[in-house]
Amino acid sequence: MSTTETQSGSEAGTSGLNKAQLPPGITESMIDRLTGMVVAGKAGEKREPFDMIEVYTGDLIGQLPQSSPEDVVAAVRTARAAQQEWASRSLHDRLAVFERAHELILSEIETIATLIQLGCGKTRRMAIEEACDTPMVIAHYLKTAEKTLKPKKRSGPMPIITSSTEEHRPKGVVAVIAPWNFPFAIAMSDSTPALMAGNGVVMKPDNKTALCTLYGIELLHQAGMPRGLVQVVCGSGPDVGPTLIDNVEFVMFTGSTATGRRIGEQAGRNLIGCSLELGGKNPMIVLDDANLDEAIPSATFAVFGNTGQACMHIERIYVHERIHDQFVRRFVTAAEELGSKIGAGYDFEPEFGSLVSVDQLQRVAAHVDEAREKGATVLTGGKPRPDIGPAFYEPTVLTGVTPDMAHATMETFGPVVTIYKFTTDDEAVDLANATTYGLNASVWAGNLDRARKLAERIEAGSVNINDGFVTTYAAKGTPSGGIKQSGVGTRHGAAGLLKYTDTINIGVQKKQIMAARSGMPYEKQLKSTLVTLRLMRRLHLG
Ligand code: NAD
Repeated sequence: MSTTETQSGSEAGTSGLNKAQLPPGITESMIDRLTGMVVAGKAGEKREPFDMIEVYTGDLIGQLPQSSPEDVVAAVRTARAAQQEWASRSLHDRLAVFERAHELILSEIETIATLIQLGCGKTRRMAIEEACDTPMVIAHYLKTAEKTLKPKKRSGPMPIITSSTEEHRPKGVVAVIAPWNFPFAIAMSDSTPALMAGNGVVMKPDNKTALCTLYGIELLHQAGMPRGLVQVVCGSGPDVGPTLIDNVEFVMFTGSTATGRRIGEQAGRNLIGCSLELGGKNPMIVLDDANLDEAIPSATFAVFGNTGQACMHIERIYVHERIHDQFVRRFVTAAEELGSKIGAGYDFEPEFGSLVSVDQLQRVAAHVDEAREKGATVLTGGKPRPDIGPAFYEPTVLTGVTPDMAHATMETFGPVVTIYKFTTDDEAVDLANATTYGLNASVWAGNLDRARKLAERIEAGSVNINDGFVTTYAAKGTPSGGIKQSGVGTRHGAAGLLKYTDTINIGVQKKQIMAARSGMPYEKQLKSTLVTLRLMRRLHLG
């Protein structure tokens, strides 16, 4: 930050909201520079800007320009023009940009974390952890992209005289639509393989959390990414989303199942590919031989980390009856201890942060209030904390939740969990699978073979044994995504890169043997075909 840049005070802004006291490292001129990167107000009807709020206080940070559908068309056009040149570069040259971006993200990690916190109110620790995701994804693909993308020669239908080569070409322009809960990680990490593969990207971050994404793109520019290749459009989803999907060749969407279904429908109509990473209602099963000294702290993070606003976080815990009461007692104590460290701050002091918005708080409170009214027991928490800030809500543990309550089946997406009791492993599996979602699950056991057998029967895209969700999410070499209503497609691993390419099959026939056979009598041709097929099977060819 330049020392001559001014920090804003807390006088009232034009919107009637108090102006935020900007945290260290963030200035008004920086915010102007970042918001100036949004493609908005250049074409079509002008939109009212969006008031960005510091969620800890509800004070105004600045205004985010909003794109019109015509701006979206212009953004895709610009990305497409830059993509031609980018795709013509060697993979080595494209990866060199990410080699530099990796280092830049690490050296700017404090600023990234502050911008993440400003928009979504998570703790410093979670913001830093979020910022680490993109360097991890970059490092994985720097190591593997060349092998994954290089053409692969296969044998053709007739060995030796024919060949077939699998080639991967960039799709063109990819839309990356991201939610607010991991606004830096999701937008940047999902764009990374798309760009490495030679595509252009048009990003649509959530309005509330766009600043950290814009800063990430600024770092990509500093690393040598050509200007124009990555464009950002902002606006309400239904306003800008449909035009974006009508103009790109692939959609990478992360968000709710309801929105994912709309995106998938439109992508289907346009006959373009899409990858949908959606919601969950994730179970944890604690077997009777689990080590509770390890399970309790891990479960506390899996439930309350990121203030319960992580797609893979746990909202249902099933505990074997033999250890149920002990688990409940210890888990409630851990939740209360965490709740005592609730707070707003750009340092490592608070261990439990804010929800993203007052709207989100109302959704969470509605689920808890309804459960309480219908007879559930609130063992701890269950209250907003307006004394700290407008969107703070306590870590909350429920029991006695029944299927008629919204929290039983719907994603609450907040710091709320219900603990249930089970008797047999079969019952635990049935309860865990009794959901339309299939994103993540966790199994705790002393006997890993028993846990593995149980994991094989759980309907979820990720199953973590003796962990909540970090092990699978951090394994960047393994593709992961949701099944059932939690998604279509995967991110990470080779599949997470190849999805941004068209696979082309180039076949070569060195000698015209097909033509030579065309004059053959039918009986002779059939006999020769059958002999050839048997030979190929025996020699494992074809
Ligand atoms: P959301 O679906 O409301 O919005 C996600 C993004 O889509 C936002 O940028 C939004 O503006 C945009 N959008 C909304 N309508 C659109 C439309 N018609 N066309 C195009 N874009 C549109 O979700 P949210 O509330 O921001 O995020 C929370 C949800 O995301 C939760 O359900 C959570 O589980 C899920 N999530 C999933 C993953 C995963 O990897 N599976 C990761 C993070 C969050």
